Amino acid sequence: TIAVRSLSKWYGSWRALRDISLDIAGGTCTVLCGPSGSGKSTLLRCLNGLEEWQQGEVAIGGVAVGYKARELRRLRRDVGMVFQHFNLFPHLTVLDNVTLAPRIVRGRRRGESEDHAMHLLERVGVAEHAGKLSSALSGGQQQRVAIARALAMQPHVLLFDEPTSALDPESVKEVLDVMIDLARSGTTMVVVTHEMGFARRVAGRVIFMDKGSIVETGAPDEFFDCPCTDRAKAFLGDIV
Ligand code: ATP
Ligand code: MG
Repeated sequence: TIAVRSLSKWYGSWRALRDISLDIAGGTCTVLCGPSGSGKSTLLRCLNGLEEWQQGEVAIGGVAVGYKARELRRLRRDVGMVFQHFNLFPHLTVLDNVTLAPRIVRGRRRGESEDHAMHLLERVGVAEHAGKLSSALSGGQQQRVAIARALAMQPHVLLFDEPTSALDPESVKEVLDVMIDLARSGTTMVVVTHEMGFARRVAGRVIFMDKGSIVETGAPDEFFDCPCTDRAKAFLGDIV
């Protein structure tokens, strides 16, 4: 579904991504990990068009998307993103948060988008809060609304950037359960997380990044039980 070829990104003279190439097949869950500053967020932000890059190509469904602003719109529309801090509109209701983009970007009618939104809110377990302001919800509830909001655009791929790291332990489980359900039902996902239990249960593949490069990729059990590189060993030693 997504093909990345030799992607490089600089912030000024700082090279944040070095020749990244990867393929995300439809229906797979990929976990991306690596030390702080290794470029995980930068890569996700390029993949959904929030950030321009300087070299390389990203293709969605076989269609190449350049890094020009005009083309990035396609990425923003087709690639969903869930952030660490939810980034909901606090002054809007839960329902309006979920229907806003489909109505504005996809031109859906209100009734149609609300029916779809309610279905998604039920799926993530927060339908009963649809009429509340999003700022009135707990962190775990807000993150589940953020997932419903991303799904409402019917993206080809859903990206998650440390979706549980701002949550208390109970909320972490609520959100991971939703993500596990999505992965098992064949949603194409790329997830930056240090939740190894999640990775072992549903990831098809783990990608380890360091200093802007992909250093190692493998099946979760292989990667966690016997990482090949010293850098991955050191990283895993630090987080477990
Ligand atoms: P973390 O685990 O802490 O979230 P990360 O792997 O997501 O780290 P990135 O946020 O992608 O890392 O950052 C990669 C590198 O690019 C870092 O050295 C960071 O300082 C730098 N960087 C990120 N955003 C910017 C920016 N807007 N301007 C300049 N440098 C940036
Ligand atoms: Mg990050």
